Amino acid sequence: LLSKRLRVVASFLPKQAVFADIGSDHAYLPCFICKNDKTARAIAGEINEGPYESAKKQVKALQLECQVSVRKGDGLDVIYPNEVQQLVIAGMGGTLITSILEKGKQKLNRVDTIITQPNVDARSIRIWFLHNGYLLTDEQIIEEDGHIYEVLIGKKGDGKTVYQNEQVKKQLLMGPYLIQENSATFKKKWEVEREKRQHALTQMNKAKVVDNQKVAKFKHELQMIEEVLTK
Ligand code: SAM
Repeated sequence: LLSKRLRVVASFLPKQAVFADIGSDHAYLPCFICKNDKTARAIAGEINEGPYESAKKQVKALQLECQVSVRKGDGLDVIYPNEVQQLVIAGMGGTLITSILEKGKQKLNRVDTIITQPNVDARSIRIWFLHNGYLLTDEQIIEEDGHIYEVLIGKKGDGKTVYQNEQVKKQLLMGPYLIQENSATFKKKWEVEREKRQHALTQMNKAKVVDNQKVAKFKHELQMIEEVLTK
């Protein structure tokens, strides 16, 4: 059975998806989608030999070779221009996800939906979407096995925005939809994040050499987190 995290990711793919899953590892997601939808087509991209071999094995075991193409390479190098309509990048840090998107920009012409699941630093993805013509259309926050995950959806935008001027910094950090929804999982995540920053500030206070910029950044973030948690 697919993890809850990957099932949420999968729920954002349409019927007849033509997609790439970059950093696919065992290709669980493409296999799940293609097994349940015979009209779906997927590319499973992997940079590392081990996961690439696992992906090939999994696809073969499920006899999905006609639907899932497993390819070895860095990021979007494995797809041809105009080859896919949806893109999934899940289970990595937000900055790695945005660097893959940035490096492969010229492959995104036909990609109307980008589904990301950053393990940390979702903010960098919101910023990348904002600067690259993708409208953040949905966000989900889920807890599984003691971990909290976020799923962020970008759709090729037509100049619309979800951000409000005076709220934008807060919304980029914590997510406009997630702030609105204010779920128990969301609160839990940001209580932990608040603690991390408080702890970091205490440590910095004790240190001899102080990075004032970092202190200011953490203080500002703490203030934003506090505002949202106590609203
Ligand atoms: N996407 C799967 C998931 O969410 O369960 C697997 C996540 S796994 C933690 C991250 C995978 O991304 C690893 O298998 C790693 O080899 C792969 N990866 C990291 N950087 C990559 C890149 N630049 N291009 C392709 N794959 C990459």
